[in-house]
Amino acid sequence: MTLVMKFGGTSVGSAQAMRETAVLIQHTKKQWGQTVAIVSAMGSKPVKVTDLLLQGAFSAANGDGETYQELAEQLRQIHFEAIDGLLAPDGERQQILVENGRFIDRFSDLCQAVYVLGELSPRALDIIGGMGEQMSARILAAYLRQIGAPAEAIDATELIVTDSNFQNATPQFNATKQKTESRIRPLLAQDVVPIVTGFIAANADGITTTLGRGGSDYTGAILGEALAADEVWIWTDVDGVMTADPRLVPNAKSIPQLSYREVSELAFYGAKVLHPKTMRPCVENNIPLRIKNTFNPEHPGTVIVPDAPNGNGGIKAVTAINNLGLITVEGKGMMGIPGIAARTFGAVARDNQSVLLISQASSEQSICFAAPDQATDSIIGSLENEFKVELARKDIDRIWAQEPVSIVTIVGAGMRGTPGIAGRIFMALGEQSVNVIAIAQGSSECSISVVVDDVDTAVAVAQIHELI
Ligand code: ASP
Ligand code: MG
Repeated sequence: MTLVMKFGGTSVGSAQAMRETAVLIQHTKKQWGQTVAIVSAMGSKPVKVTDLLLQGAFSAANGDGETYQELAEQLRQIHFEAIDGLLAPDGERQQILVENGRFIDRFSDLCQAVYVLGELSPRALDIIGGMGEQMSARILAAYLRQIGAPAEAIDATELIVTDSNFQNATPQFNATKQKTESRIRPLLAQDVVPIVTGFIAANADGITTTLGRGGSDYTGAILGEALAADEVWIWTDVDGVMTADPRLVPNAKSIPQLSYREVSELAFYGAKVLHPKTMRPCVENNIPLRIKNTFNPEHPGTVIVPDAPNGNGGIKAVTAINNLGLITVEGKGMMGIPGIAARTFGAVARDNQSVLLISQASSEQSICFAAPDQATDSIIGSLENEFKVELARKDIDRIWAQEPVSIVTIVGAGMRGTPGIAGRIFMALGEQSVNVIAIAQGSSECSISVVVDDVDTAVAVAQIHELI
C-alpha cells in the first residue's frame, strides 16, 4: 500500500511539532508500508516562513535595504532553534545548520540583488518563496534519521515538472509521473521515507516554479497521482472539515465524510481547508483524500470521496465570506436587450476582479453580483464607463453597491431533490429577523447561498447550523 501524506506549516512549526510529526510518520509507515511525506515551510502562527521570505523580496523591491536583513536574522533564529532542539551535536546538527544557513544567505543575496536592481520578477519570487520548504524538509529528514527511521529530503524540483507560469504553475502529468517514479520508487523499495518539499516544482529547464500560495496540499495530490497512491492524507491542525467555523459556532463538529463536489463548494466559499486545485488529481484517479489533525491523530478526520449518486444527510456545513459588496445594475430599459449580462461581466473581468455570486430576477430589470468590497468602487467605475450610452438614455437607471455584505453558503449534496430545505433555511433566518438580500442556488443543488448584511453573518451562520 502507498500512502502520501502532507504536513502543513504548524505540523513542522517548531522542534516539538516536528518531533510529533516524525512519530506520526513512523507510526503510519508501520501500518501502510510505503509512505511519502510532503512538508510545508515552518509556520507556527502567526509567523509563517513563506510570508517572511516573500516580505523580504517585496520590501527589497520597494527600495528598503534593511527589512530583508532583519528577516534573514529572524529566519535564521526560527530554523536554528528547531535544529538545535532536534538534532544531537554529535550527529547531523552541524551539517544541517550549514545547509539551512546557506539557504538563508542565498535569500539575503537574492534580496540584495532585488534591492539593487529595484526589480522583482515572478521567477525570482518563486526561488525566494520556495526556500522555506527546502529548509524544513532537510531538518525533518535529519531528525527521522536520528531516531532510526531512514529518510531522505527531496526537493520537488526533481519530481514535479510544470509549465513556466511562475507563481502559479501547472504540472505536466507525464513528465512528472516519470520523474517521480524513477526518483521515489527506489527509495520506497529500500524502506526510506522521502521527505518532499511542498509548494515548489520546476519547469522543463529545471528552473524553480511554485504551485501558488497554500500549494503544498496540491503537491500531495500530484504525488499521490504520480505514484498511484491508495490514499492521500493532508495533516493539518483541525479535526478535518468542520460543519462551521468554530469561532462563529462553538459546537461545530468535524464532518466524517464529504463528496468531492461538496468540498468544492466549501473551498470556493472560503473554508480554508484545502488548496482549491488539490482535489482534481484525486478525483480523476479515485484516490480518497483524508484530512487529519496532527494534534489529535487518533481522530479519523474527514475523508473526501467520489460523489455519491444520492448524497444523503441534507445540510452538511455552513460557511460565510465577509467583506463583500453587492453590486446592482438596474433599469427598466434592460429588459429583453441581449448582451447586458455579457457586457457587465466583461467589464468586471477587464477590471481583473472575480465575482463570487450572481443573481438575476426573471423580470430582467436588474442583475446583481457580489465582489470583494474594496473592489466595488473600481468595478462601478468600469461599469459606468461600459454603459455610458445606456445610462444617458436611461435604459439603465443606476449602478450601485450595497456593502458590507457577506455570503452565507449552505452545503450538502443531500439537498438535491429534497424539498423543503430552502424553506427551513429561510424560516430559521426569519426567526432571528435576518434580512436576506439575495439568493443563489447552483443547479447542482449542492449548495444554496444567501447574501446578508455583514452584521448579521454570525447570527445567520449559527441559526442555520442548528439545522444540521
Ligand atoms: N508554504 C507555502 C505557503 O505558505 C505552501 C503551503 O504552505 O501550502 O503558501
Ligand atoms: Mg494550507
